[in-house]
Amino acid sequence: MRTKIVAGNWKMNLDVDASKQLAKDISVDIQNLETNNTRIIIAPTATNLYPVSHQVGMDTRIELAAQNMHQAKNGAFTGEISAEMIRSVGVTNVILGHSERRAYFGEHNDTLAEKVTTALQNKMEVIFCFGEHLKQRQKKLHFSTVLSQINEGLFHLNKEDWKHIILAYEPVWAIGTGETATPEQAQEMHEYIRTIISGKYDKETAQNVSILYGGSVKPSNAKEIFSQADVDGGLIGGAALNSTDFVALVKAIQ
Ligand code: PEP
Repeated sequence: MRTKIVAGNWKMNLDVDASKQLAKDISVDIQNLETNNTRIIIAPTATNLYPVSHQVGMDTRIELAAQNMHQAKNGAFTGEISAEMIRSVGVTNVILGHSERRAYFGEHNDTLAEKVTTALQNKMEVIFCFGEHLKQRQKKLHFSTVLSQINEGLFHLNKEDWKHIILAYEPVWAIGTGETATPEQAQEMHEYIRTIISGKYDKETAQNVSILYGGSVKPSNAKEIFSQADVDGGLIGGAALNSTDFVALVKAIQ
């Protein structure tokens, strides 16, 4: 059975004290939530994973994600961080393929496929991001773009592996722009994604994977987007940087 998830990508924001404070605020603010099985994941920047994991401590409702990792086990890769390293500081999830990584750091589907494999070998769940650019949507290439991103990044996996994959459809034109896909556009794409997974594997695998929407989700538009049948939550950027908004998004999913 797939689960509802709200994941906050803090990107390159917040120093160590501010990160610990935000984690603490979220921990306090979610205490008053009624029974809600939504998974809550936060992704601080790499240097703050360890202190935030201490801050979160025994609050088992909050899971930690890294924003990236290297595909190799270890070695001469100056400036990089391995799966083992992030795992050793309490991280259980990793965001891979974010459009900013693809655009500014040249990450391609073939490297991402390797990273996915390494993450799974290290017992982490992967939040795999993909989505089309505006020009691709305008040329009606959004479905084929997403198909090739998923095909090249994830279709080397077996059915069992898919239990540890979370998908995040993030149309690039909606990330950090204030533009949001309409609930219908999100639903249409998410439904399509399940169709291609079902075609490659089977219906069960397609139905069991959580598919998040990302792109300028905020408290004012979350309910409508999250209420779509194939939208299982969100990957959140800007609105994840304060607890009030972030927890409002968790509530919007109920
Ligand atoms: C993101 O970066 O994954 C994202 C969705 O950002 P924002 O919510 O700010 O558009």
